[in-house]
Amino acid sequence: MSETTKEYKFQAEVNQVLSIVINSLYSHREVFLRELLSNAADAIDKLRFEAITDHELIKEDGELEIKIRSDKDENALVISDNGQGMTKDELIENLGTIAHSGSQRFLKALEEKGKGGDSIDLIGQFGVGFYSAFLVADRVEVTSHAASSDEIWRWSSTADSGFTLEKIDEGPTRGTEIKLFIGDEHKEYLEESRIRHLVQRYSDYISHPIKLRVTSEAGEDAVEVKWEAINKAGALWKRKKSEITDEQYDEFYRHLTHDWESPMARAHFTIEGSQLFTGLLFVPTNPPFDLFDRDQRHGVRLYVKRVFIMDDCESLLPTWLRFVRGIVDSDDLPLNVSREVLQDDKLVRAIKKGVTKKVLDLIENLAKDDAEAYQKFWNNYGTVLKEGIHFDSDCRDRLAKLCRFASTKSEYTSLDEYIERMPEDQSEIYYVIGPTQNAVEGSPHIEALKKRDFEVIYMTDPVDEWAVEAIGTYQEKKLTSAMRADLDLNKEESEEDKKEREVRDEGMKPLVEKMQTKLADLVSEVQVSHRLTDSPVCLVVPEGGVHAHIERLLRAQNKDMPQAKRILEINPDHAVIKKLSRMCDLEAEESSIGEWIYLLYDQACLAEGSPIADPPSFAKRMSKLMGEALG
Ligand code: ADP
Repeated sequence: MSETTKEYKFQAEVNQVLSIVINSLYSHREVFLRELLSNAADAIDKLRFEAITDHELIKEDGELEIKIRSDKDENALVISDNGQGMTKDELIENLGTIAHSGSQRFLKALEEKGKGGDSIDLIGQFGVGFYSAFLVADRVEVTSHAASSDEIWRWSSTADSGFTLEKIDEGPTRGTEIKLFIGDEHKEYLEESRIRHLVQRYSDYISHPIKLRVTSEAGEDAVEVKWEAINKAGALWKRKKSEITDEQYDEFYRHLTHDWESPMARAHFTIEGSQLFTGLLFVPTNPPFDLFDRDQRHGVRLYVKRVFIMDDCESLLPTWLRFVRGIVDSDDLPLNVSREVLQDDKLVRAIKKGVTKKVLDLIENLAKDDAEAYQKFWNNYGTVLKEGIHFDSDCRDRLAKLCRFASTKSEYTSLDEYIERMPEDQSEIYYVIGPTQNAVEGSPHIEALKKRDFEVIYMTDPVDEWAVEAIGTYQEKKLTSAMRADLDLNKEESEEDKKEREVRDEGMKPLVEKMQTKLADLVSEVQVSHRLTDSPVCLVVPEGGVHAHIERLLRAQNKDMPQAKRILEINPDHAVIKKLSRMCDLEAEESSIGEWIYLLYDQACLAEGSPIADPPSFAKRMSKLMGEALG
């Protein structure tokens, strides 16, 4: 080691990630090449973008390209690019720490998956591609000359705990050269044919030339050296669809996303209207880990006339399509466009509209053509799509059509299928809201509906309440909560029945009043119910209120949110209620009626899946009353 060489330790997470990469990817060693080529291509893209405003960066120094050469004397494979390069600090930051804020999450996600689980699909998502170099190399040397700097620095590591850095005098005029000292068991990666094959298989879509140094005998003792381009090097999305294979699309997707799986669906289109743009978009098979993070990535890359402009371009897609990955290439935007400008640019808004429409077409086709795949899609992304119903009135109808739910009659149904099953005397679409299917299935609110053979949709997703309110009416059928006070079962009632009911309700008055006094702190009102058949009581949502489950979720985020009082409904035909009503008439001992009333209230909470406020008192009351009943 020379005097100018300094030693550095890896950040602890890097060691961890390195060992994970090496231990879980041993059967996929060849991926190192595509990871390094992908980084090289990104470095060239970034340089080209920066050079739009700073022409000095790319001087008259030839084509932007990636070169691969194998050096059999040294057993080294060298991959070089004349892209943006890295300064000394960038070498430390990029190759000595895990620069992404997601590093901790990566390790956490791995832990959650359990030891020995399949970590492959996690690795790429968190940007650990470079470390795959150690799958084939015993030592890696990275020599880099940043476009913005006069210095050349060399990073070197054997992957055991740290790396060294050294300033050197001679090296690339600009860009990065990665030298892999290939381990004895992996010499195949020095072979020209193997490299050629891997590039064609995994990296053909890279839009810069990848050149391989090939040597051939040229007479006695002489060898001829040539650089031969071994990839197609055109922007894949500009090729004709008929000339692109599924494998090429998939590899392109993997290059963009670092995902190991193939995408679930893709859309490749060119729109030629008032403006011209091309899109190549994918729906990942597995949702990204940050799907519900506030600072999630948006996933779509923007190109202008084939020049890479930016990653994660949030202006091109609505947030409810944030799981979509891919590229959009516009012919009309200016090359020096910034994120801020994009936000309220008219052209961009038109592109966004066009892209959104294409993605919805894609999802609709999936629903139509491949029910099984669509179900998987819905399970992964349904919650996110439903946000669109709330936020994007333009797409509301199309999104409502794509929604799927479980119900009293189906494990998985669309609203259209629901409507087809509706009996003639049913005019509205009914739903209940709760934390789980289990909790709502037995909910007292739906007893009368079930009796009448009216199907009830189970809404167990926190966004459902907003989505359903935004939909309002679907195919002229109102969406109606079975848990709201104003539920109207539009039962036909003869004059006689009506009279009988009114008399019976009148008879309940003393009990209703007593309950109202006792429960004044807990409910806004006590009412005689028309929706209950089997249960004695239930709690319903007054007009304008939110469902209990949703209120709890909101309160978990904002402790100061007041608890809204609901309405307690009692079933006048239930034996318990009848008995209590009689106790009231007989002016039975006040305290015992009170106990029964509290117990009923708690029961109403339990029956809809809500927690009860004071479980010890509930248990005591219960034992006391059981004792009395049995005694
Ligand atoms: P990722 O590519 O997912 O960010 P990597 O571990 O592959 O993660 O690379 C880490 C970082 O190192 C990159 O984000 C990039 O900034 C830098 N880097 C890697 N290879 C090169 C290269 N050939 N030229 C310039 N920068 C590079």
